[in-house]
Amino acid sequence: MARLAGFFSRLSGRGGSSLPGVVARKLDPQVLSKLITRLPHGTILVTGTNGKTTTAALTAFLLRNHGYRLVHNRAGANLILGLTATVVQVEKWRIVPRADMALLETDEASMPRAALETHPTAIAVTNFFRDQLDRYGELSTTVDMVQRAILQMDDGGQLILNADDPQVAYLGEGHPHAVYFGLGLAENIRATRFQDTLDARFCPRCGEPLYYWMRYYAHLGDYYCVGCGWRRPNPDWTVADWNKDQNTISVDHNGHRLRLPITMPGIYNVYNQVAAIALAAQLGVEPSTMGESLSRFEPAFGRMESVIMHGHRVWLALVKNPVGFTQVLEAVADDTGQQKWALVIINDRYADGTDVSWLWDVDFEALAPTLGLEQWWVSGIRAFDMAVRLKYAGIADERVHVVRDPSTALEQMINQSPPGVSVWVMPTYTALLEVRKHLTQHHFTRHFREG
Ligand SMILES: [Zn+2]
Repeated sequence: MARLAGFFSRLSGRGGSSLPGVVARKLDPQVLSKLITRLPHGTILVTGTNGKTTTAALTAFLLRNHGYRLVHNRAGANLILGLTATVVQVEKWRIVPRADMALLETDEASMPRAALETHPTAIAVTNFFRDQLDRYGELSTTVDMVQRAILQMDDGGQLILNADDPQVAYLGEGHPHAVYFGLGLAENIRATRFQDTLDARFCPRCGEPLYYWMRYYAHLGDYYCVGCGWRRPNPDWTVADWNKDQNTISVDHNGHRLRLPITMPGIYNVYNQVAAIALAAQLGVEPSTMGESLSRFEPAFGRMESVIMHGHRVWLALVKNPVGFTQVLEAVADDTGQQKWALVIINDRYADGTDVSWLWDVDFEALAPTLGLEQWWVSGIRAFDMAVRLKYAGIADERVHVVRDPSTALEQMINQSPPGVSVWVMPTYTALLEVRKHLTQHHFTRHFREG
């Protein structure tokens, strides 16, 4: 019944990513946990504010190349209904399950229920940033939800945690099976260039301010507390070197050094990749085989991918919170193309977060001069909020163009841009869906699917 609902929903062009979940849970509220217990290798949940989609996609890629048959929710179907829909649809018409493991990117707020129903064998946490406060409340509430999920794991359940994020690392305190990943880069590459907002400055154990030996971005780094002596746990997987010219990272583990390709820009993708490596290794993937796999990886939908449109390189990068937006702008700054134009599309539907005041937490004042962006196009339901934000950041009116409809904005922008201009499209979640639909209808896409 659920799959049929999904089929008709897709047929009517409505996407249908969670409708099968609604139907299945109406018929049997226990359906997720019943189906999941049939998977011999259990369930892995990947959560955190930023990077969970990319981390889960990278991990899924490594696991599939290793021979696992995975259930994996691609791109955004990460609330409990989406998870249920994903698992229901994999069963097809058979009695024997087609998959042997579920890898589920899970929204932080859905973690307690997801863990209760799936009893995960491993939970990976990328980071905690302020994100859509209107939906989740304060950051401590988010941390608490993930903590509750961890308590639902069976004995022997493993944690894969970002050592560089104090609140993530603290989840592993006293846990017998915590594995940490982090960076051990020689210089603080971004500190002088970008001022980030700090979300977690206080020791999660005693509440005193944290000090940093090294800060890589926002509150991620090598920290210590003078109040109680708590400090960053030693990472089991450490990125010891990041070669931006050759697009490689070196990862230290157990006295061995691995050199691996990295196909996505930005330091946050270095974190995503080392998270995936740690998680996949924990699930039995031999590290020495990962390099070959990773060189063939293509980024998940909307997480920094590009298409060619009328001779222009068009980058698509989801923006959804201040730190995420800052990181995308960092990638724009790293783009060495001769001319760059931007299209920022801000919607305020539920899935985007209905409060757009976070745009004021992105430090456009400091960032704008470093970007090399010549023209800004702004679009979406809250196009004018974005235009005002840019005006306050000192960007001249004649360089900012407001076109409310995203498809029209994209078309006009491409038509007016001189040859060779690379175009950076930065949409919120529902805006990304609109852009994708437009690109698909005009056959500009590589292969967009929500999975
Ligand atoms: Zn302390």
